[in-house]
Amino acid sequence: MRGRFAPSPTGPLHLGNLRTALVSWLQARAAAGEWLVRMEDLDRVTSSAEHESDQLAALAAIGLHSDAPVVRQSERFALYYDAIATMQRLGRVYECYCSRREIREAAQAPHGDAPTDAYPGTCRELTTARLTELRRAGRPPALRLRSDGERFLIDDLIAGRFEGAADDVVIQRNDRVPAYNLAVVVDDAVQGITHVTRGGDLLATTPRQRLLQQLLNLPEPRYAHVPLVIGVDGTRLAKRHGAVTLADLVALGVSAEQVRDLLIASLGDSVGDLANAEFRIEDMPRDPWVWSSTSQHFG
Ligand code: GLU
Repeated sequence: MRGRFAPSPTGPLHLGNLRTALVSWLQARAAAGEWLVRMEDLDRVTSSAEHESDQLAALAAIGLHSDAPVVRQSERFALYYDAIATMQRLGRVYECYCSRREIREAAQAPHGDAPTDAYPGTCRELTTARLTELRRAGRPPALRLRSDGERFLIDDLIAGRFEGAADDVVIQRNDRVPAYNLAVVVDDAVQGITHVTRGGDLLATTPRQRLLQQLLNLPEPRYAHVPLVIGVDGTRLAKRHGAVTLADLVALGVSAEQVRDLLIASLGDSVGDLANAEFRIEDMPRDPWVWSSTSQHFG
């Protein structure tokens, strides 16, 4: 068993991220497996080495250390380009010249169980003449996966059975940077990840990742999507909810141990005897955990 936590180093980890990391770590530990940290720093504009070291320090402060050297996606483009080339050989890739705005305007109301941000298919069947014209105009294309209505059933350890359709997801951005959905699938396979435990917001994108795995002939990991942490207003945890990062809380006099204990307590009966590494991910609460305020939680 090998699990992982794969943050994007674009800012400090908040309590929701730390809780997800903890769940994944507890799961690996209960199975006497390994737990890895991977930095998803594909986007060089939003990622930074400083955020990376802050994130690693926050994980370390609550006792979570990667069992292998931390891997950075920014250093692995060759792997992703290989995977894209494989899909091109399968005839599963097309050029997309749409701007974000054009996609937004063309998007229809979500129907069935297609992801809500599903691509409307504008560039899917461009004529050769139109393609030549677009190539000449010089706007660089993104590359999209040509999906075929494939549907996948995910037997999630926390969310239960989830069925959804894949769509024509971007696999390479128009600045030639490989896209998240492609990179994550390649890395999980190359790193031998058997259990993908991550934030619940990624459940809806999992069918796309399953299709990429299928086309690239990669094994399917076991998925567990951890319910998000929300504020009392019902929205997902963010800066506006107050002190929500470890550094914020430490500045208010809360210790890293207290934060760790609170996060463990939030997992309810799923955590058994910690000295014996007891944890049953299937038994963790399926509802979002509500963060109210520092004084509420730490008296
Ligand atoms: N890097 C992604 C994020 O920060 C998570 C990817 C994953 O766990 O699959 O949300």
